[in-house]
Amino acid sequence: MRPLAGRLDLCSINTATLGYQAPIEETIEAAARAGFGAIAPWRRELEGRSAAHVARRIREAGLEVSGYCRSTYIPAADQAAFEANIADNRRAVDQAAELRAACFVMVVGGLPEGSKDLAGARAQVLEGTGLLLEHARAAGVPLALEPLHPMYCADRACLSTLEQALDFCDILDPGRNGTIGVAVDVYHVWWDPRLEGQIARAGRDHRLLAFHVCDWLVPTRDLLLDRGMMGDGVVDLPRIREWMEQAGYAARVEVEIFSQDNWWKRAPAQTLAVCAERLQSVC
Ligand code: ZN
Repeated sequence: MRPLAGRLDLCSINTATLGYQAPIEETIEAAARAGFGAIAPWRRELEGRSAAHVARRIREAGLEVSGYCRSTYIPAADQAAFEANIADNRRAVDQAAELRAACFVMVVGGLPEGSKDLAGARAQVLEGTGLLLEHARAAGVPLALEPLHPMYCADRACLSTLEQALDFCDILDPGRNGTIGVAVDVYHVWWDPRLEGQIARAGRDHRLLAFHVCDWLVPTRDLLLDRGMMGDGVVDLPRIREWMEQAGYAARVEVEIFSQDNWWKRAPAQTLAVCAERLQSVC
């Protein structure tokens, strides 16, 4: 396994970790100053700016882009809304291409409002991702399906396990040409008894596009916004990273922490320093 001590260049900071306290230009500078090799920005941070401008600032700071967050949810209550969601995602893929993002992170969405048709939602995800994949291939941006913890199945992602996400990849890309894969986020998949085997499968099929780290706190006080700093919870981070790297993953280790009542309240420079220290000591 790659040692991370002294190798923050192998690490990335997902900007959500800093709570969006500063404009993206400042966040880029702060991440570079802290020694990170990459950044993963969110679409909301590009509002009112051209992707070309942000891309230039990132490159001038010496950073790469480990991923661009994230897709508009795909499932919709009617065809017009479904098509609008796909069109919106196409625009985001174009931004990801300008940013030279290693992947476009896809949080696929859950049930449309008022619906109980989970199979239908999943069918929409499959169809919509297929439509988007053609555009992404032309733009040269791999799509990274991110399975989310099953507690988000209704409202955020009806893809809940790595196995399910990889099954979708196999249907959409039977040739395994690397244009669609998965984002493995420990917060969402650490509990899965099939995780090791599915990471190995993803590696064999060239589908490991991103690796997101944080920790699972006990107790967790908010299901969305109480993620822990690496080392503060119960996830065996080195073991999961070892599975990733044994499967061939050689891209960035990306910190992604949503923490409304703790890390988002701290100064970004302090959070970056703690992330850097924990990446090098407990991941
Ligand atoms: Zn993630």
